Amino acid sequence: MLSIAISVLAAGAVAAGALTGETAPPVVGSAVAPTLIARVEPSATPTPPRSAPTGSPEPAVMPTFDRSARSLDDPASLWVVVDKTRPLNPTDYAPTDLVDVPVAHVWSPQLRREASDATVALFSAFEAETGLKLQSHSAYRSFAAQVMVYDADVAANGQAFADTSTARPGNSEHQTGLAIDISALPRICSLDACFGDTPQGQWLAGNAWRFGFLLRYPADKVAITGYGYEPWHFRYIGTELATEMHATGTATLEEFFGLPAAPGYH
Ligand SMILES: [Zn+2]
Repeated sequence: MLSIAISVLAAGAVAAGALTGETAPPVVGSAVAPTLIARVEPSATPTPPRSAPTGSPEPAVMPTFDRSARSLDDPASLWVVVDKTRPLNPTDYAPTDLVDVPVAHVWSPQLRREASDATVALFSAFEAETGLKLQSHSAYRSFAAQVMVYDADVAANGQAFADTSTARPGNSEHQTGLAIDISALPRICSLDACFGDTPQGQWLAGNAWRFGFLLRYPADKVAITGYGYEPWHFRYIGTELATEMHATGTATLEEFFGLPAAPGYH
């Protein structure tokens, strides 16, 4: 009985060693060992241990973010990347699920339904956390509306300047129904770089990702986005992507998805 018990224990020990990829230590000075090893070896040989086939470390527990989960080209995709080298296709695209956004505003805002809901949640959280107020300055703009905005900028400032501040029709994120320009209420530094220094701009820069928004045109990414610093312009990309970009410290969609920089039009 005793020898059988020892055999079972020893066999278990050798088997456990095999599972972790360790070599069973030689047992010196034991009368039991030679027979044990002889009996265990045949069954331990055929199947290599599953846990350590190549001696590589354990696989990471965190799942890998799937960067191909949504289209970057489909204008109706939450991840569509629109910049000076990536016009909307078709250029006169219009979303099919626009709704009125029930928030304070300068111009009556519309966004796609999911982006509208996220805007309401963001404004509500901002007010609760700071005691201050926000308002929408401008949200969805149709192709035709962008023609008017762009032409007015060209007429007032010339095309070279206009192309640094206003998207050409078909190249505007506002046409996706996923972008919103946000102002303080009452207005402080509205549509001005100094908005980034206001309590509103500071909070948005630090917290918009929680609601699925991206500060699309950071001050230090002009060479990539093709636009000057716009601390008021936020693009809805969904909480999954916004959280991943926040966690990885990636500022632009172009960098996150490995797309070419878009400093100017072709
Ligand atoms: Zn904007």
